[in-house]
Amino acid sequence: FNVPLPKNEPVLSYGKGTRERQLLKKALEEARARQVDIPMYIGAEEVRTQNKKKLSPPHDHQHILGYYHEGDRQHVEQAVQAALNAKELWANMSWEHRASIFLKAADLIAGPYRYILNAATMLGQSKNAFQAEIDSACELIDFLRFNVYFMSQIYHDQPESSPGVWNRMEYRPLEGFTLAITPFNFTAIAGNLPTSMAMMGNTVVWKPAYTQIYAANVIMQVLKKAGLPDGVINLIYVDGPVVGDVVFSHPDFAGLHFTGSTKVFQSMWKAIGENIQKYRGYPRIVGETGGKDFIMVHPSADAKEVATAIVRGAFEYQGQKCSAASRCYIPKNLWEEVRKYVVEDLKTLKIGVTEDFSNFINAVIDERSFNSIANYIDNAKVSQMNEIIAGGNYDKSKGYFVEPTVILTKDPSSTTMCEEIFGPVLTVYVYDPANFEETLDLVDRTSPYALTGSIFARDRYAIELATKKLTNAAGNFYINDKPTGAVVGQQPFGGARGSGTNDKAGAKANLMRWVSMRTIKETL
Ligand code: GLU
Repeated sequence: FNVPLPKNEPVLSYGKGTRERQLLKKALEEARARQVDIPMYIGAEEVRTQNKKKLSPPHDHQHILGYYHEGDRQHVEQAVQAALNAKELWANMSWEHRASIFLKAADLIAGPYRYILNAATMLGQSKNAFQAEIDSACELIDFLRFNVYFMSQIYHDQPESSPGVWNRMEYRPLEGFTLAITPFNFTAIAGNLPTSMAMMGNTVVWKPAYTQIYAANVIMQVLKKAGLPDGVINLIYVDGPVVGDVVFSHPDFAGLHFTGSTKVFQSMWKAIGENIQKYRGYPRIVGETGGKDFIMVHPSADAKEVATAIVRGAFEYQGQKCSAASRCYIPKNLWEEVRKYVVEDLKTLKIGVTEDFSNFINAVIDERSFNSIANYIDNAKVSQMNEIIAGGNYDKSKGYFVEPTVILTKDPSSTTMCEEIFGPVLTVYVYDPANFEETLDLVDRTSPYALTGSIFARDRYAIELATKKLTNAAGNFYINDKPTGAVVGQQPFGGARGSGTNDKAGAKANLMRWVSMRTIKETL
């Protein structure tokens, strides 16, 4: 195909003395030194309102990063109208021209915007430098480049013809406008959801989580600089229910691309269902929602490898990845060794602000999240069935800090074993090695979600058994690796059951949801 064959963007190390470390430190200083005034972007307008809201780093309440302008119902209506106005020109632009805008955006992030975007993610979402590099720079660059590649594959996929008959397939955008609702935890996902729809010729209303507006603003600037025409993506900061109210009752609503909580997704699905007769067609609904991701360990596994996977899989980015390990099943013969390594490892992890690169653990995203996590920890502490073997403390005086916490439970159906916590809390259940197979059933039954999961074993029979028995328990299944860190183009990401529609982010299958096909048969 006539597009650059993508390669994953190399991840920079940010080690001491490196150039990238200096540049990132400089970007952080510059960002801290000024307060940004963040408008909404509707059509060609930068919209400012009377309702200015303060943004602070989750790890530093005292500091003000800037202000965003919150909108209301009329701004949602304007954004919908702007998307509809931009549609005809955009949808009829050749796909190569659309593609070049997104390739340019990827290059801008790989180049001058890399440090600005990473710094914004570090300050706005309290993500450390290494996690920000993986997420905001590399993963977003990869999403943009791989999606352009998949897009070209889609357009080139044409049916057979026969003598006297010429068949062709048109891949049109959906009829109407689309909505992207994006989460705080991955800047790359926030960038991917609106751009993947736009790439296929759709125009978009984009509502980010309020905790991610600081970096969303940078993404919007990159897209504008790359030449995205006005009105193709309209970025608004309006309360979710108000957005839903306007968008889901609009006859031209054509598709929803969502990453966030299961509860919100289900309520939106319901609202769309209730309005179904108003629409021109059946809106496409794509969502990635919750997870209660597991690490299942076989007696043949290597204890040190398991411990490393637990610490990284459960506690990177304070456990706020949908993919984060949050329940772990360990056989009795390995437990003491795994426990020792985990506790030792956790003692070496420093907690604090992202500006200090030696801190591995930073703050959780906001007060609501902090209170909910603290509540889970407190409830776990009072149960006779549980023992806190690491962490267990939290403090919100300066920022929303929660210690990485490991709970050992005797009850495999305890609350923290079953419910999504979205924070640095891992629950371990120790099982009798004779019951490996029964424990696999337990892993499968315990949660309504099916996003990610890992099996650790050196015994090939055990790996095969786990792979079969856990067929529906995880959309991303890892053998001898932690359940986080899917790479675009290598491990397409997404899960089924309560975890979403499993349309795999960073895959051709996902882009196919944003086109409506027309088959043309011409008799020659
Ligand atoms: N793709 C990310 C990973 O593999 C998780 C994305 C999410 O949290 O939604 O870790």
